[in-house]
Amino acid sequence: MRTNVIIGGQTFIIERNSPSEELSNKYDGRIFYDKNKIYLSNNCEISYQDEVLAHEIIHGLVEKSGVASILKKSDVNEELVVELLSNIFWNFLKDNTDFFIGNKEVL
Ligand SMILES: [Zn+2]
Repeated sequence: MRTNVIIGGQTFIIERNSPSEELSNKYDGRIFYDKNKIYLSNNCEISYQDEVLAHEIIHGLVEKSGVASILKKSDVNEELVVELLSNIFWNFLKDNTDFFIGNKEVL
């Protein structure tokens, strides 16, 4: 199980905790750019934790790519964009489980 992920050159530690302080008892996951942390609630199925992790990674990609700053200047809600992207990304990963494995030379 991965304990960190690098997004846009920034390493984030992935912590799976009870949904207390960091998650304010109302989020299943959150990304904190200033703390270099992605918190996930461990109060749900591991497959759902992975889905939430994909969502938080998309938040990071949107932030690090500059898309988030574009969205802030528009009427488009970042959460909606992240939700749409993370849903299709999660389904892509499920439909193509071995897509990236063994292709390190391509990357
Ligand atoms: Zn979100």
